[in-house]
Amino acid sequence: MAAAAIVLPPTPLTPPTYHRIISPSLSLPTNEALPVPVGLLACQRDPLLRELSTSVISCTLQNNPSQAEGAKSKKKASSTTAGTKEKTYEVILHDTVLFPEGGGQPSDTGVLRIEQGVELEVVEVRRVGGHAVHHVRAKDELLLAPGDKVTTILDEKGFSRRLDHMCMHTSQHLLSALLETHLELPTLSWALTTYPTPSYVELPRALTLEEIARIQSLAHTLAYEGRAVHVEVEPLAEDNRPGVATVASGRTVGKALPQDYTGGVKRTVVIDGVDRNPCCGTHLPSLSNLQLFLLPQTESLTRGATSTARLFFLCGPRLHVHLNSSHNLLTKTAGIMSCGAPDVPERVNQAVDERRRLDKRAEELEAELAKIVSAQLLVDPSNETVIKRHYHRNDEPSRALGFLQCIASSCLSSAEVSEKKYCFVLTSSPVSQTSTSVTSVLIVSPDEKLVKMVGDLLKSEMSVRGGGKGTRWSGKWVGVWKDAKEGKLVEEILSRV
Ligand SMILES: [Zn+2]
Repeated sequence: MAAAAIVLPPTPLTPPTYHRIISPSLSLPTNEALPVPVGLLACQRDPLLRELSTSVISCTLQNNPSQAEGAKSKKKASSTTAGTKEKTYEVILHDTVLFPEGGGQPSDTGVLRIEQGVELEVVEVRRVGGHAVHHVRAKDELLLAPGDKVTTILDEKGFSRRLDHMCMHTSQHLLSALLETHLELPTLSWALTTYPTPSYVELPRALTLEEIARIQSLAHTLAYEGRAVHVEVEPLAEDNRPGVATVASGRTVGKALPQDYTGGVKRTVVIDGVDRNPCCGTHLPSLSNLQLFLLPQTESLTRGATSTARLFFLCGPRLHVHLNSSHNLLTKTAGIMSCGAPDVPERVNQAVDERRRLDKRAEELEAELAKIVSAQLLVDPSNETVIKRHYHRNDEPSRALGFLQCIASSCLSSAEVSEKKYCFVLTSSPVSQTSTSVTSVLIVSPDEKLVKMVGDLLKSEMSVRGGGKGTRWSGKWVGVWKDAKEGKLVEEILSRV
């Protein structure tokens, strides 16, 4: 039997029931000479729409270009021929598939196709009052005129960005609703962080692991059920006019509208049987495939007398990135530990324990060796008034100064020589040295004046950086330490004091 041809399903479409104007007095403006207000834009009516033909209402040169853009243009103008410098226009269109920032959701980016297929980059869309203002990067001396036909496009890059924002934003509505309904926890604010880091909701308190598991399980059940999402739009009631309450980007506080909003419509995003929440964002038409992952720890925040907690979450493209990187980390670690992934925690534990045991053993051996070294240094065959010695060795840099301190302690505590005067300069260089290698230097003597004197000479004559108080002085010297040069210099300094 011949294999059946695989037919890919068509690109998902937004159901016609998604956008509902629920008031008979409100209708979609059709006059192409006027802009559709923010709240009724094509991107808000149909979040999966990628292209829309529309008309230009106005196009002006950006009056206040950003410093970066200004500097860039200036530099370009001075170094290249006229006409190649970048210009940014502010364009208001009748309608658009590009979402202006709002409700905690960042702006879309995309493309504006003008006549003869010329495509211009839309770097940002901002809401000004009730209008979406497109910031468009133009390459040539070009001005769009009112009435010009153009196409707004959510290109691949722009759609990936939007899809991520939609996944995170709709998940935030779902998460906040579940926290409020099942744990009576209001969302104080939320942040749609930069891709691909986890976003978060800020709550009055941290969640227990059991609560996190419960909320996640409830979210998954609703995703499997494929709960529908739709938007209800109505005229803005008098008591809901901007300015009634302060706006912020959280769910609870988001129940008010931005003070400068003049679009005149109120949008309510509804997750069937779960949540109703005023919001201007673009939301997916369904919870299906929207697996929410809550990071199993909360971050506590204290501001004055109040403390809150951040609960981090992931879904959609960010969850895939997180899974990939977590899997890669685990696989890599399993490879290093030569075991299967499930055995990694135990093997890492074993390695850490082993390391602690070895460190302890090394310290014990170093203490033993330090006693031998100090005893050798304190042997005084010539019966000098002050025994002066330079002792050099090669060690791993991480333990070098520690071991020199160990020798110094051993010298100072040596009971038999308490009567003797001595001054030792102990140095330790790495086994293989380069021009940036660090040699540890330690001076030890029961005579504090002698310590200071030798320290000052090492500083002034050998550029050793360091300092000390009392019976010890420690420092560092950078470069390749040679016995015949640096070693000799130390001995010569010691002979002078
Ligand atoms: Zn929202």
